[in-house]
Amino acid sequence: MEKITCAKCGSVYELSYTRTIMRDKDVINCEICHNQIYSWSEAKIWSARLVVKCENHLK
Ligand SMILES: [Zn+2]
Repeated sequence: MEKITCAKCGSVYELSYTRTIMRDKDVINCEICHNQIYSWSEAKIWSARLVVKCENHLK
């Protein structure tokens, strides 16, 4: 399990992935501030679960 922190608002997400046969290219955006937090181009589908909610972008 990987943790990732949004550079804009400081929210922390746990990343997990599902393997697929097809190469996939996609991004995950922060649920709080919509900043792009992760992108990939490989045979995986990543999903992010919000674990710590921060709203530093509103300050
Ligand atoms: Zn954010």
